[in-house]
Amino acid sequence: MMNKIYDSILETIGNTPIVKIRNIGPANVNLFAKVESFNPMGSVKDRLALGVIENAEQRGELKPGQTIVEATSGNTGIGLAMVCAQKGYPLVITMAESFSVERRKLMRFLGAEVILTPAKEKGTGMVKKADELAKKHGWWQPRQFENPANADMHERTTAKEILEAFSDRELHYWVSGYGTGGTFNGVSRVLRNKSSSTKIILCEPDNAQLVGSQIKQTRNEDGSANVSHPSFNPHLMQGWTPDFIPLLLEEAVDREAYDELLPVDGNFAKQCSRDLAQKEGIFVGVSGGATFAGALKIAEIAEAGANILCMLPDTGERYLSTPLFENISVDMTEKEKEISHSTPGFHLAE
Ligand code: PMP
Repeated sequence: MMNKIYDSILETIGNTPIVKIRNIGPANVNLFAKVESFNPMGSVKDRLALGVIENAEQRGELKPGQTIVEATSGNTGIGLAMVCAQKGYPLVITMAESFSVERRKLMRFLGAEVILTPAKEKGTGMVKKADELAKKHGWWQPRQFENPANADMHERTTAKEILEAFSDRELHYWVSGYGTGGTFNGVSRVLRNKSSSTKIILCEPDNAQLVGSQIKQTRNEDGSANVSHPSFNPHLMQGWTPDFIPLLLEEAVDREAYDELLPVDGNFAKQCSRDLAQKEGIFVGVSGGATFAGALKIAEIAEAGANILCMLPDTGERYLSTPLFENISVDMTEKEKEISHSTPGFHLAE
C-alpha cells in the first residue's frame, strides 16, 4: 500500500502483499504466500465483489438502487456487503445455516439481510433460494459461480500483481484451491500466457475430490449446477469446494489450466493454519492452511531453489466458533496457571 489518500474504501481492494515464509518447510526451496486478508474486509472475495458489480454497472444490467441478491458461504457476502454499503445498493444474502455465526453477524453489521437455508440442502439449496428471490422481486444476481467478471477481475488484478512481484525471479509453482474457481480461472489464464514455465497446482479436499473424480457436473441451461456432485462430502475447508463443480472452475479445468491436482487432508490444513499463525505470525482461515498444506507437499518434491507461491484467501478471525479454534482454551491452561503461580500476587481463586 502506498502512502496516499484513497478516494473510497473500494480503492484499497487488491494489491495484497506477497510474503516470504521463513520458519516452515524445507530450507532448499523458497515458499511465498499472497496474503488476501489485507483486503478491506479480510478476504480474496472483496476483489470479486467489486469486479462483478462494476462490470454489471458498466453493462447497464444493474440499476442505481437496485437490490442485489446472492448465495454465499460468507466471504463473498461480506465483500458484497462492503461494496454495496459504499455504493448504496440494498443487499440480500442467502446462506446455509451451517456456516459460521461470525459471518452472518458481519454481513448484518454491514447492513445486509441474511436469509438462512437448511444445512441439509447444502450449497445448491442456498443457490436455489437466491434464484427464487431474484425472480420474484426482480433483484440482480452477481452469480459468482458463473459470472465471467469474477475470473476477469483476478486476471486484471491478482495475476498482474503476481507477475509484477515475480518480475525479478522465476515463479516455478503457483498453488491454489477453489471455491467459485474465479481465482484459479483468472490467474491460470495469465500465467499460462505470460509465465508459461510456472507449474499450476490445484488443490481440493481429500474427502471431496470433485475434479479428481473426473465425473462431469450436470447443469441448468444458465450453467449453474442442478444437483450435488456425487463425489462431494462435507469437509473442513470452509470457502473451498462447494457441493458442485462451478462453471468457472470447469472452464479452466477443460483448458488444462493445472499441471497437478493435489488432495489435501482437512486436519493437516488446520495444523498448517495454526503453524502459519504460531511460527510466521500470519493469521489465516482453514482454506489458507489447506493451500499452504498443498504448497508444503510441492516443496517436498520441488527442485532446489524453486520459488513456490500459494494463495492465503482470508483471515483466521472469521473462524473463532469453528473447529479451527477447537483446541484453543477459554480458561487458563496448566502452563498459564504455572506462570500465574510463579509470583505471589493476583491469583484467581481455584
Ligand atoms: N477460501 C475462502 C475462505 C473463500 O471464501 C474462497 C471463496 N469462496 C476461496 C478460498 C476460493 O476462492 P475462489 O472463489 O476465487 O475460487
